[in-house]
Amino acid sequence: MVSGFSRTKTMTFDIVTIFPAMIEQPLAAGILGRAIDRRILDVKVRDLRDFTTDRHRVVDDVPYGGGPGMVLKPEPIFRALDAIEADRGTPLTVILTSPQGTRLTQPVAQQLSAARHLVLLCGRYEGFDERVRERVTEELSIGDYVLTGGELPALVILDAVARYVPGVVGDEQSVAEDSFSRGLLDFPQFTRPPVINVGSVTAAAERPLRVPDVLLSGNHAEIRRWRKREALTRTLERRPDLLAGASLDEEEQEILKELRHGRD
Ligand code: SAM
Repeated sequence: MVSGFSRTKTMTFDIVTIFPAMIEQPLAAGILGRAIDRRILDVKVRDLRDFTTDRHRVVDDVPYGGGPGMVLKPEPIFRALDAIEADRGTPLTVILTSPQGTRLTQPVAQQLSAARHLVLLCGRYEGFDERVRERVTEELSIGDYVLTGGELPALVILDAVARYVPGVVGDEQSVAEDSFSRGLLDFPQFTRPPVINVGSVTAAAERPLRVPDVLLSGNHAEIRRWRKREALTRTLERRPDLLAGASLDEEEQEILKELRHGRD
């Protein structure tokens, strides 16, 4: 079982962006909003324009060598990092959001949650002046596609990391059992009612959709085994690549053998 819940202190995040509202508004709601209210998470959003020195608060400039788009200037970012270091008083783990970075995965999120303090830099335009990388400790991508800015990636990273901070998610066991936590996809979930009748405008008749009998049986050993089988079946069908790195107990190894045998 993965355990990512070793620390009980507040986790601190600083997010540097030219669009503070894009970060502040999503963080006001839901589980993360509650964790911030309860001071389990301490998130400060820093407006990059506050670290400019000119009247127009310019953060970008044309690329040397020509070409389309603009590039984020390095000095405002260095000043923002100096200010954060002075304010927080800790060495900084600085994450540059970038489609060229290491891919964010569940193990990466869990690893990052061991840090007490993370700084997230949100790019815009064609990205950052390369010299910013001098102060960067990690470069993270949220996937092989290009977004208009680093605000959504920063929120994705913060959310994935914060779920490992004790007290953020009510039931820590649920985080340990989520998809990817052990290298497996999660089993399917059902809730009440046990049967629903579904139809559609074009369907001739309604048909019942039932919750699997085993989940209504009250037999916890059977439910546990059913869930393991379902998680393994899903992983085998949808993400067989995950199985090579999955940590499986003996029962799961046995079920996987059966499933693979059935497919031969
Ligand atoms: N020219 C850059 C390149 O091709 O690598 C892309 C710049 S992108 C339009 C602007 C900013 O969005 C990036 O600096 C980064 O902060 C953010 N961004 C875009 N896609 C991202 C991804 N997949 N993961 C993380 N950040 C991303």
